[in-house]
Amino acid sequence: MCAVEVSNSSGVKRKADNHGEKHDKKRPVPPWALGLKSSMEDPALRVEDDDKVVIIKDKYPKARQHYLILPKEDIRNLKSLNAEHIPLLKHMQKKGQELADKSPQCQFRLGYHGIPSMSQVHLHVISQDFDSPCLKTKKHWNSFTSEYFIDSSDVIKQLEEKGSVTVDTGKFEGYLKQALKCHVCKKDFKTMPALKSHILQHAPKKTS
Ligand code: AMP
Ligand code: ZN
Repeated sequence: MCAVEVSNSSGVKRKADNHGEKHDKKRPVPPWALGLKSSMEDPALRVEDDDKVVIIKDKYPKARQHYLILPKEDIRNLKSLNAEHIPLLKHMQKKGQELADKSPQCQFRLGYHGIPSMSQVHLHVISQDFDSPCLKTKKHWNSFTSEYFIDSSDVIKQLEEKGSVTVDTGKFEGYLKQALKCHVCKKDFKTMPALKSHILQHAPKKTS
């Protein structure tokens, strides 16, 4: 079931001034941003786990298949990552690829939102059909189809090259405001309903 009202990329209702991980180390994490931590314990959402990570279904999926892979270790956001986390991030990517490989008929991307809404680092594993009633807004669309979505391999590369992940907040906020464009054929659209009906032609046929 989708959130009734959405205001940003996560699908969670919140005050407009709380967008993104502007809740930095000095500020307490607002309660709504801790939802993933409790969902990690929710059997209805939990897909699998091992000694390092938990895989859950995204509660407000933006595609037919949308999973989140979270480390068991507390890691607040991309800014908290350093070179020591590289093996963990590689493990998360491997688990994500294993999930994607279970559906060879679907294309997937594995990556992170540059400015996540929710606390605790989480890797999105999302099929590229974007066929979901929860995908409603331009922010949702651009958060998964623009440079706002950073491929897992690029996050790992940044950590390998400089030991940290850099996100230019102004630039990333701009990505969310970009004009609507099909992620496959690059055609422009004025509205989300028009874009959503167009992208179905690129989606694999549903088998059931
Ligand atoms: P972001 O923080 O922007 O990377 O996105 C957070 C993701 O978490 C979004 O795709 C939401 O649909 C999803 N989400 C929000 N709240 C919950 C929750 N309580 N349990 C599981 N997924 C959630
Ligand atoms: Zn198209």
